[in-house]
Amino acid sequence: MVTRKAWMAELKPATPKDRQPVTRQSQGILKGAGTPARKQSALAGSGLTSERMRAAMVERLRAAGIRSAGVLAAMGNVPRHLFVDEGLASRAYEDSALPIGHAQTISQPFIVARMAELLCNGQAPQRVLEVGTGCGYQAAVLAQLAGEVYSIERIRALHDRARANLRPLRVPNLRLVYGDGMQGIDSVAPFDGITVAAAAHTVPRELLQQLAIGGRLIIPVGREKQSLRLIVRTAAEHWSDQELEPVMFVPLCPGMI
Ligand code: SAH
Repeated sequence: MVTRKAWMAELKPATPKDRQPVTRQSQGILKGAGTPARKQSALAGSGLTSERMRAAMVERLRAAGIRSAGVLAAMGNVPRHLFVDEGLASRAYEDSALPIGHAQTISQPFIVARMAELLCNGQAPQRVLEVGTGCGYQAAVLAQLAGEVYSIERIRALHDRARANLRPLRVPNLRLVYGDGMQGIDSVAPFDGITVAAAAHTVPRELLQQLAIGGRLIIPVGREKQSLRLIVRTAAEHWSDQELEPVMFVPLCPGMI
C-alpha cells in the first residue's frame, strides 16, 4: 500500500491544445510538439546530443547483446540528454551511470535496456511498475514498451524533477507516484512486470504479492556484492527465482523523504 501521503501525478500535455491522443510510440518523444522553445531545440538535438549519438548508442547496445527490436527502438526514441544536468548532456549517450543529485544516479543505458528486455521477454506487458523513478529516464523507456507504467520514487525532489523532465515528452501511459516502492502500489496491482532500480537486501514480500501470475520481477539483490535476479510468479503461491549477472546499484531504502 502506498501511504496516505503518497500521491499520483498523471503527466499532462504542455498546453490544452495538445490534448489530442498520442500513440504509445509517443510522437511527443520524437517530435516534442507543443513544448517551450528551449526544450524544443533540445528535443530536436544538435551536435553531441543529436539523434546520431543515440543511434550510435543503440548500435553499441546491440553489439553488447541486446536483441529485442522493441527495446532497441525504445532506447533510440528517448532523449537521455534531457534527463541529466545540462553540464553532463554531452556524456548522456556514453554507457555510464551519471549523477542526478541526492546521491542517486541515472542508470547506465546497457542496464536499462537489459532490464527492459528481461521484463518484456519478447512481449508487451500491459501493466508495469518501476521502483525508483530517479530522473524518469527508465520510466520513459518502459512506457514505450508497456501498455501502462507506474513509476514510484521515495525522494520528493527527484519525483518532482522526473515530472518536470517528462512533461515536455508527453508520455500519456506513464504515472508517477511519490511513495515507498518497497510497498509496491497495492491499489493498482497486479503487475505483469516489476523492475527495481535500486538494490534490495532481500526481495520485498509486497512486490512478490503484487505480481500477476506469470508476472516478472527484475530486481538487484545484495549489499556489497549484488546480482540481478529474475523472479517469475508461476502460481498463486509459487515463484521461480533465477540469479543473473553481477550488478551495482544504489541501495533500496525504506520510507519517504
Ligand atoms: N530509474 C532511474 C534510476 C534511478 S536510481 C533511471 O532512470 O536511471 C534509483 C532510485 O531508486 C533513486 O532515485 C532512489 O531514490 C530510488 N529508491 C530507492 N529506494 C526506493 C524506494 N523504497 N522506493 C522508491 N524509490 C526508491
